[in-house]
Amino acid sequence: MIEVKQAAKSYGKLNVLRDISLKIETGEFVGIIGPNGSGKSTLLNLISGIEEPDQGEISLAGQPITSFSRKSLSQRLAVLQQDGLPSISYPVREVIEMGRFPFQDWRGREKGGNADDLLNQIMNRLELQELAGRPLSVLSGGQRQRVALGKVMAQQPEVLLLDEPTTYLDIRYQMQFMDLIASWQREEGLTVVAVMHDLNLASLYCDRLLILSAGKVIAEGTPDEILVPETIEAVFDVKSHTV
Ligand code: ADP
Ligand code: MG
Repeated sequence: MIEVKQAAKSYGKLNVLRDISLKIETGEFVGIIGPNGSGKSTLLNLISGIEEPDQGEISLAGQPITSFSRKSLSQRLAVLQQDGLPSISYPVREVIEMGRFPFQDWRGREKGGNADDLLNQIMNRLELQELAGRPLSVLSGGQRQRVALGKVMAQQPEVLLLDEPTTYLDIRYQMQFMDLIASWQREEGLTVVAVMHDLNLASLYCDRLLILSAGKVIAEGTPDEILVPETIEAVFDVKSHTV
């Protein structure tokens, strides 16, 4: 579904990514882990087409990402950032409906009729019915993140990119949030690429992990293969942080 071929990216003199190659299969849940500044978000931005590589090529379903229009790309690929939504005061349901933008014409209409059924299903599934008319600005962090998830669900993408999506969630909501993503992956064959900062969550939800360090993929494999003391210590420099 996704292929990155020999991609490199620099900001000025800083070589953030060097010679990254990887493949992600349809329906896979791949986690990207690595220390701060190792280029995880940059890699995700290349895959989503937000940034262009200096060298190499990124493709989605066999086509170069650069060959898609913004709109056609948004019909297939969605991104959920760490703090999933800008601070806007729109009502919850309208925010979720924004996920339909890529499918609407300039009048805000959709070809196959309106998306009310889909939006209702999503509102129910995320237990947001009671909040439908509330402005986003009055919601808690956990509720906002659920709305952000609703918006990307409304987009009905084939690929979902997540950048540390549970950072601002209370511990008790982190698994609930990941469970929603996992059931979407299981039931609809969604392909998920997630930058994960929590190694426990990464091992619970990811089929495969890539470790990024200083702009290179230095290890990949199943969580069982990757999350062993030797790799963790080498990558995260755990020893220097012990008390
Ligand atoms: P990670 O997500 O792994 O923490 P990032 O991909 O955000 O790492 O950043 C990698 C490096 O690139 C960092 O040193 C960061 O400061 C730098 N960087 C990221 N984006 C930009 C940018 N737009 N301009 C300049 N430097 C950037
Ligand atoms: Mg980051």
